[in-house]
Amino acid sequence: TTNSHPTGRHFLQIPGPSPVPDRVLRAMSLPTIDHRGPEFGALGRQVLLGMREIFQTKQPVVIYPASGTGAWEAALVNTLSPGDDVLMYETGHFASLWAQLARRLGLKPEVLTLQVDDPVLPNAPGWRRGVQADLIEERLRKDDAHRIKAVCVVHNETSTGVTSDIAAVRRAIDAARHPALLLVDSISGLASADYRHDEWGVDVTVSGSQKGLMLPPGMSFNALSPRALEASKTARLPRSFWAWDEIVEMNKTGYWPYTPNTNLLYGLSESLDMLLGEGLPQVFARHQRWAAGVRAAVEAWGLPIQCADPAVYSPILTGVITPEGVDADEVRRLIHERFDLSLGTGLGKLKGRMFRMGHLGDSNDLTLVAMVAGVEMGLKLAGVPLADSGVRAIMAHFERG
Ligand code: PLP
Repeated sequence: TTNSHPTGRHFLQIPGPSPVPDRVLRAMSLPTIDHRGPEFGALGRQVLLGMREIFQTKQPVVIYPASGTGAWEAALVNTLSPGDDVLMYETGHFASLWAQLARRLGLKPEVLTLQVDDPVLPNAPGWRRGVQADLIEERLRKDDAHRIKAVCVVHNETSTGVTSDIAAVRRAIDAARHPALLLVDSISGLASADYRHDEWGVDVTVSGSQKGLMLPPGMSFNALSPRALEASKTARLPRSFWAWDEIVEMNKTGYWPYTPNTNLLYGLSESLDMLLGEGLPQVFARHQRWAAGVRAAVEAWGLPIQCADPAVYSPILTGVITPEGVDADEVRRLIHERFDLSLGTGLGKLKGRMFRMGHLGDSNDLTLVAMVAGVEMGLKLAGVPLADSGVRAIMAHFERG
């Protein structure tokens, strides 16, 4: 039996793009308005202020009509100059893609990662753990000449399901008395996991629309700091579309130097109402609770969680390692075909070894119980021996309140 004519809702359980609430979809279906007209300025000002609350910052937030990769590039080209040394930390596939982008721009990234024995994934121990702030501190202490201009880390590593401690990275830079800027990718962390741009002393935070903000892809963000704005005055990497100065200036009245994605901004206004109306602490607690329920299921199955350090389990997604000899992509294919449920694939060196279950976006307890049911049936069909029922475990977890 294949699901050739699926009925009901597709289960979009990849770790972004996440399911978009109907309220947001309806808001986006309104007619597009004049982006230079009087109504637009009010919308622009409102969403720009709302995004400051989401980033927990009092500083400007820049919104780009681009995917997250664009905002990654923007963070680098606005603050750095050709040939600059940057210290990057490889937590997984996305961290390594950011380093590749830096290299293509003519920067000199030095990539740190953790070397430890890992019997489960010997080829990727650093991809099972968070940023080790002590390694960053150690490296910066050796940089007496202050050649390193920026430290770049990923907050929520979407390829693995690890949420790193950004405050610890700030403390490491301060302990080394180093002037490097701190640039953070919270593309998949923002609006699901606690994130404090100002309190954690981050200079640029990069994010995207298609994860915690519960919007379709196509919009991305830079949250700035006074030091980042200062650095942009002397940074010499070429930039035009990404240049902050003109955007920040025009944003003061709620407009953009070029055409913004009007309908996605309608959607953003709606999702800001939802998230800020619920309250950020409640939003974060909800994701933590969901994640604990999903992990209870994985533990019941007796399969290893990709993240090997419970202190940095992601509230947004959970990576599951399949037994040696079981192709995780084959399990995913089967689950999609039979149950119309999409799971995240293993990226880079995790290909075929793991799959990712998203627990973000428009979701609730029952959506996640259904996701676990789909995965459990798929694992059984693929012949994976399971220790116990994950469905029973996640139900027990949610029954407790
Ligand atoms: N960084 C992280 C942590 C991501 O999860 C993603 C996308 O999933 C990206 C960067 C790249 O963003 P985009 O695909 O929107 O360009």
